[in-house]
Amino acid sequence: MSKRDYYEVLGVNKGASDDEIKKAYRKLARKYHPDVNRDNPKEAEEKFKEVNEAYEVLSDPNRRAQYDQFGHAAFDGAQGAGGFGGFGGAAAGGFSDIFDMFFGQSGFGFGGRRNYGPEKGADLRFDMEITFEQAAFGIETEVTLPRTEECQTCQGTGAAPGTHPETCPQCRGTGQVQVTQNTPFGRMVNVRTCERCRGEGKIILSPCRDCSGKGKIRRQRKIKVKIPAGVDNGSRLRVAHEGESGVRGGPPGDLYVYIFVKPHKLFTREGDDVICEVPISFVQAALGDEIEVPTLDGKVKLRIPEGTQPGAVLRIKDKGIPHLRGHGRGDQHVKVKVVIPKKLTDRQRELLVELAKAGSDDINPEQKGFFQKMKDAFGGL
Ligand SMILES: [Zn+2]
Ligand SMILES: [Zn+2]
Repeated sequence: MSKRDYYEVLGVNKGASDDEIKKAYRKLARKYHPDVNRDNPKEAEEKFKEVNEAYEVLSDPNRRAQYDQFGHAAFDGAQGAGGFGGFGGAAAGGFSDIFDMFFGQSGFGFGGRRNYGPEKGADLRFDMEITFEQAAFGIETEVTLPRTEECQTCQGTGAAPGTHPETCPQCRGTGQVQVTQNTPFGRMVNVRTCERCRGEGKIILSPCRDCSGKGKIRRQRKIKVKIPAGVDNGSRLRVAHEGESGVRGGPPGDLYVYIFVKPHKLFTREGDDVICEVPISFVQAALGDEIEVPTLDGKVKLRIPEGTQPGAVLRIKDKGIPHLRGHGRGDQHVKVKVVIPKKLTDRQRELLVELAKAGSDDINPEQKGFFQKMKDAFGGL
C-alpha cells in the first residue's frame, strides 16, 4: 500500500511553518477524532492515525529534514529484523496520549467515549553497545530487560483463579454513565466515564493475588536478538512482538534495539569501508616494501610501491564491512603515514648527508616547480 505524502495528509505546502503545521494538525485531529465520528469510527481512527503520524514527523525538525530528503524511505527501517533506519520515537506517545493531550478532561465536550477494544502493547527500546567487529560480522545475543507481561495465573483477567471479572453494576458494562443536568437552557445530558469500573465495564471482586488484580506482571525477560552483519552506529532493529503485552487481548508491542558501536583502536568506518592508518618509514616510502597490515579478517600482506607519498591511500579490496543489504563487502583503505625519524645514529646521518650531496633535484623533484611558482608570485626575486 502506498503511503500518502505527509504534507498532503496535513493539507499544507512543503514550505509550511511550524505554526501552520500545528494549526493544520489540530484542525484535522479534531475533525477525525473518533468521538465525533461515531457513524464511521474505523475510518476516522485510520485518518486520525495518519494525521498523527504525519504530524509526528513534520513537527520534529530533524525528522522533517530526513523526510524532505528521502521521503517515506527515511523511516522504513522498522521492517522486520535486520531492518534499519534513522531515528524515531520507538516509545513515542501512544494513541491514548494524544487523546489526553488534546481532549484533556475526558467526558467534557465530546462525551468521553473512548475505545475500550483491544490495544497493542507499548513498544520498548533497548540501547545496545557492540564492538566494531560485532557490527561488521553480526552477533546473536540475549538482552535482559524488564517488561510487562500478561499474568499467567489469571490469564490477564485480573480475577483470582476460578472467578471472573463481573459486569459493572453501575454502568451495566458500558463503561460510561449519563449525567443529566437541568440548566436554564434545558436539560443537558453528559456522558461520562464510569467511575466504578474506570470505563472498563467490568469489575473484579476477588483479585488475582499474583498481579493484585492488574492482570499484568512486571518481570525481567531474556530476549534473543540477532544483530545482522553490517549494522552501524545508530542502526535501529525491530524485534517484532517482544514489547509490552497488549491490552484487552491486543497484540504485544515491538522491541526496538538501538545500536551503538564502540570505537576501534585501529579502524574507523566510512560507509562500508574500513579506514586504517599505517605508519611506514620514509625509506620504505622511497624504496617500496611489503608490510603486514591489520584487517577485520586478520593480518594481510600489502605492497608499498616505490615512491609512495605521505597520506597516500592504498586499497585492499573486499576487506571492509559486509553490506547490510545484499551481498559483498566494502574495501579497506590503508592511509600511509610516513614517519621521519627524530633521532639518527652517526652512521645514518652520514648516509643521509651523502644522499643529499647526491643531488637535491632528485631527492626533491617538486622543488624546481615550487621555486618557479614563488618567482611568479613575488615578481622575479
Ligand atoms: Zn493475575
Ligand atoms: Zn462501570
